Amino acid sequence: MKQQRSLQQSLWEENVREMDSTAVTAKSILTPCGFGGWSLNPYVGCSHACAYCYVRRRWNRMEAAESHVHPWGAFVQVKINALDRLRREIHRISPGEGIWLSSATDAYQPQEAQRCHTRKILEMLVDWDVKITILTKSALVVRDIDLFQHFRNLRVGFSINTLDRHAWQCIEMNSSPPEERLEALEILQREHISTFVFMSPAMPFITDFDTMVPVLAKRTRRVSAETLNLSEGNYAAMREAIQRFMPGREQDFWQAVVTRKWGNTIAKQFEPLCKQYGVRFGGFFRNECSRKKLKQMFSDDPIFDFLRENE
Ligand code: SF4
Repeated sequence: MKQQRSLQQSLWEENVREMDSTAVTAKSILTPCGFGGWSLNPYVGCSHACAYCYVRRRWNRMEAAESHVHPWGAFVQVKINALDRLRREIHRISPGEGIWLSSATDAYQPQEAQRCHTRKILEMLVDWDVKITILTKSALVVRDIDLFQHFRNLRVGFSINTLDRHAWQCIEMNSSPPEERLEALEILQREHISTFVFMSPAMPFITDFDTMVPVLAKRTRRVSAETLNLSEGNYAAMREAIQRFMPGREQDFWQAVVTRKWGNTIAKQFEPLCKQYGVRFGGFFRNECSRKKLKQMFSDDPIFDFLRENE
């Protein structure tokens, strides 16, 4: 319990950047998930501002269309009518279907510490026979363990793609540091909350499977991974992040991503590694991007000259 409080404390005291924090009225609160079930996003926007976040693509389009002034990562809007919407929409969920928190925000980003908005939503869901999956990068999630213990079917996933502090600082520095996420996993496990880890996005030079799998295997029962989902939406932020992370060697990173060599190696090694350390293998998902599309996206960027070699 003492450890639990220290984690919360560190988050509450975290020096959160100045955020545009407003309220918004949502037209609906449940969105059908591509992989089945429903997703529920208590907030619009996400102060974690991960460089690889592909939600920013949708936002950038909306921003252009609606003249928003804040770039992705610099605003958080609370969906003030979330509880009311949920009361009206809950009948859409069939028995056995699940709700995913969240697909386009982090339900436990630092603003949640003061607002308790996600907590209020979960307090309402506790009486429903619905499977809840939480995926977060925030150790704040341990605050709600007392509530999780009342659910029949709830699991908490941590998205962790590196244990390297320098990589974390370059790519997703507004989220909880990797060691706090590991500590939170330990606490959840001790409190008998079902957990999993999603190594997402796994990236060359950043995600070291050999080091991570044994560490994660001690703290959770299931591990899966996906590769970087590169698009026009996250490319510029990722380009900057990689420049910070490995200045002068960025091309090595991009070459490994684009030529798929690294992904092919991991595809062979990941499952045996999970078996070796006694953790369930949940899958390795490849987000592919065709050479043609990459060339279109990166036609002006000399760092991608290697794409045009041997043509
Ligand atoms: S935590 Fe998720 S939603 Fe938030 S910025 Fe990172 S990737 Fe995007």
